[in-house]
Amino acid sequence: MTKRVVLLGPPGSGKGTQAVGLAQALGVPAISTGAIFRDNLARHTPLGEKAEAYMASGHLVPDEITNAMVADRLSQPDAANGFILDGYPRTLEQVTELDALLQTRGIELDLAVELTLDHGRVVERLLHRAEIEGRADDTEPVIRERLAVYRKATEPIAAVYADRGKLASVDGHGAVEDVAGRLRNACLPPSD
Ligand code: ADP
Repeated sequence: MTKRVVLLGPPGSGKGTQAVGLAQALGVPAISTGAIFRDNLARHTPLGEKAEAYMASGHLVPDEITNAMVADRLSQPDAANGFILDGYPRTLEQVTELDALLQTRGIELDLAVELTLDHGRVVERLLHRAEIEGRADDTEPVIRERLAVYRKATEPIAAVYADRGKLASVDGHGAVEDVAGRLRNACLPPSD
């Protein structure tokens, strides 16, 4: 069964929400690098302080910080049986790092799932979320920067997993439960 999954998709594609639901369906933890950074920020930890300025401006937190955090999180016992990674890897360098990390543990990624969403809907959703959640990085100039970073650094990742025959694309439009169903179909074997 599919248990080690990377979830890809632009900011606003619903990755965070869907990662939690999919993790429950697969019985593994959802690991969101953005959520871990935000939690550290809220608790004023040294990690949060290091990440703050990057996040606030819509830029990526440097790899040495992010990679160490992910390595630590993946070594925790609840991730031994699998995981849904949300927000990592986000650069080609992080893909290489994740490969190495899994290799030292003698395991492989099962699948990368890309949530696809029209650009117009992405911006619409992010602005809507800004009103509801008030996330510090959901202001219009920062959203624009995050989308630019996504297009330049993160979008090319899907092709790497496609070349390995490990990419599934899932339509991210529509209601949360509809998207969740498509995601489960991509990850779970048919039930009969
Ligand atoms: P979104 O997908 O909506 O942009 P995330 O919650 O995934 O939001 O990430 C928020 C911020 O956390 C990013 O803009 C970035 O600053 C930082 N971050 C999250 N994941 C990574 C990562 N893998 N590498 C570097 N920075 C990251």
